[in-house]
Amino acid sequence: MRRKLIAGNWKMNASLAANTALLAGIKAELSQQPACDVAVCVPAPYFAQCQTELAGSAMAWGGQDMSEHESGAYTGEVSAAMLLDFGCRYVIVGHSERRTYHAENDQLVARKALRALRSGLIPIVCVGETLNEREAGDTDKIVGQQIDTVLAAIDAADLADIVVAYEPVWAIGTGKTATPQMAQDVHAMLRRKLMKKNAVAASQVKILYGGSMKPDNAKELLSMADIDGGLIGGAALKAPDFLAIIRAA
Ligand code: PEP
Repeated sequence: MRRKLIAGNWKMNASLAANTALLAGIKAELSQQPACDVAVCVPAPYFAQCQTELAGSAMAWGGQDMSEHESGAYTGEVSAAMLLDFGCRYVIVGHSERRTYHAENDQLVARKALRALRSGLIPIVCVGETLNEREAGDTDKIVGQQIDTVLAAIDAADLADIVVAYEPVWAIGTGKTATPQMAQDVHAMLRRKLMKKNAVAASQVKILYGGSMKPDNAKELLSMADIDGGLIGGAALKAPDFLAIIRAA
């Protein structure tokens, strides 16, 4: 039985004051030993705040992106080592907003995932199809290509250290959610691909669902066989909603 992971993605929504209030609200209700793993992925300027305010809590923290490079002349980039300096455990790579607004392609996402793994961070590798791709019947082809590119870049032995997040682009921030069965079908396809890389590790890899997961749909989604948690955007910004999803896991 895989332990579930509920990870918040704050995106570019944060301030020192708002973060303190949100984290305090979550910590106040989160038991020291929640039934699932819990993390928040925050904008880089707030890593230090998370390190101070979450140290010793049951919550981990991480970044929303990182450089494919180790260090050097890459103005504006943030390295894996920098995330580690501030105690990050996770880093999201390949979020659809990075793919859309920053032209990140499958190869770059794969290089970032590899860099994260080699540095000791757990990459949360996002994959997902657009509405046009789904309507054209290309979901498995597109999502399959996205994960295959990452799997080709990493060692079989490292598979156990990644998290995959299936996030249909049409469901992110739109209020539209994949039905539990639609999501499960894609998760099962992803699991089969992971199995081909390393069957033992694949059975332990967490495959999260993301896309308008909310307290009122979380339980049903999280009850599916291959849905091992959630990557939560909007609902992670409200302590009661985030806590309700954690309780559903
Ligand atoms: C996300 O950005 O990863 C996400 C799933 O957002 P939302 O929950 O708001 O759809």
